[in-house]
Amino acid sequence: MPTEHPSTQNNEQLILSNLYCIGRNYAQHAKELGNTVPSEPVVFLKTLGALGPHCGDFKLFCPTSDETPQHELELVLYIEKGGFQIPEEKALTHLGGFALGLDLTLRKKQRTLSEAGKPWALAKSFYNSALVGPIVQTTVDEALLTSLSYSLEVNGSIRQVGSPNEMIFHPKTLISFISQVVPLQKGDLIFTGTPSGVGAIQPGDSLTAKLKTERLKGPYEVSWRAL
Ligand code: ZN
Repeated sequence: MPTEHPSTQNNEQLILSNLYCIGRNYAQHAKELGNTVPSEPVVFLKTLGALGPHCGDFKLFCPTSDETPQHELELVLYIEKGGFQIPEEKALTHLGGFALGLDLTLRKKQRTLSEAGKPWALAKSFYNSALVGPIVQTTVDEALLTSLSYSLEVNGSIRQVGSPNEMIFHPKTLISFISQVVPLQKGDLIFTGTPSGVGAIQPGDSLTAKLKTERLKGPYEVSWRAL
């Protein structure tokens, strides 16, 4: 069953394939969780079934009573042209755009599973745990990436701020790195990791992700409300 996702242009629907995610890609965030800065990208996956609404109200799903999911604001890359073993210098030509998204995480569950040496898939992939705004379809080059900055407001207060310039591994490195091992497909999304400032979401919270760049027309802003 293909999952469709809206583009900001012409209400076009894009078919999504796989959801790749990168952990610890901002030094400040690795530090706030007490993790070391990795020497190569930390890659994990979410399932398409975890994809929630692209904006608006969503049911905040808490599988256990002892924690609510944390928000992780992320730049999400949209792969338009698949490829295997893509060299870094060609990597950005495989992109067809980007979005802002939230990688919702059950932090306690992730820690418990991780410390037990078990896969923490279900701490990252659960109902409505992948919230992705509409995809801005555009050519993505170095200059565009350098110009981007983004922030997340929770109930009107800024909690997270980031830009690709602060990433430990650049988007072109991530694309090349993953594709050395597994072919990337048209419709794949890559969550590029979160800046510092993650925190628990409570029912009733409003979450607004904002993107700034002088290189695109019009503002990009997407809001969700946890129910
Ligand atoms: Zn994340």
